[in-house]
Amino acid sequence: MSKATGKPAKDVWYKDGIQFECQGSGQCCVSHGEYGFVYVTSADRKRMAKLRGIPTSEFTKKFCLKEEGLFRLKDGDPIPVSVPTSKAGASPAAFKTELAKPCVFLEKKRCTIYSARPAQCRTWPFWPETMSAKAWTKDVAKFCPGVGKGRVWSREEIDALVKEQTAWESDVAHGL
Ligand code: SF4
Repeated sequence: MSKATGKPAKDVWYKDGIQFECQGSGQCCVSHGEYGFVYVTSADRKRMAKLRGIPTSEFTKKFCLKEEGLFRLKDGDPIPVSVPTSKAGASPAAFKTELAKPCVFLEKKRCTIYSARPAQCRTWPFWPETMSAKAWTKDVAKFCPGVGKGRVWSREEIDALVKEQTAWESDVAHGL
């Protein structure tokens, strides 16, 4: 039941929550498919620059690229990663090794700016584009070893992150 309207809340496939806990695999910090780039807003860049102790302009020049009006983090040197094959989902899951581009801040599978990481990283994997049952199964559960581990995130917590990510995506699209 929606507290605001008193009407029954729309049912969603994750109404009972989702079990997820980051396993520190670094998988989401490596370019794969349509989720390849880490976009950053001005607020993201300011926060990361502060952590690094340098002016935002210097941070942007050193660690960001501007493409089609949007800022994103640069890539690091290519590294071998394990990616699911078409047989993923079978038991045991099938994987192959490919070279992929990691985020410039990924070192030994760890984020070196974790406390100031971009909003896009903090809200992962609860994004508007990943929260359909199909996208979750195809794009998240296959890649992310954190799915099915740790605590259960409630529907309310997930919806709050999706909302935050939606607002952030709007800021990125508007060049903020
Ligand atoms: S900023 Fe950190 S959390 Fe985000 S992609 Fe880069 S290494 Fe991963």
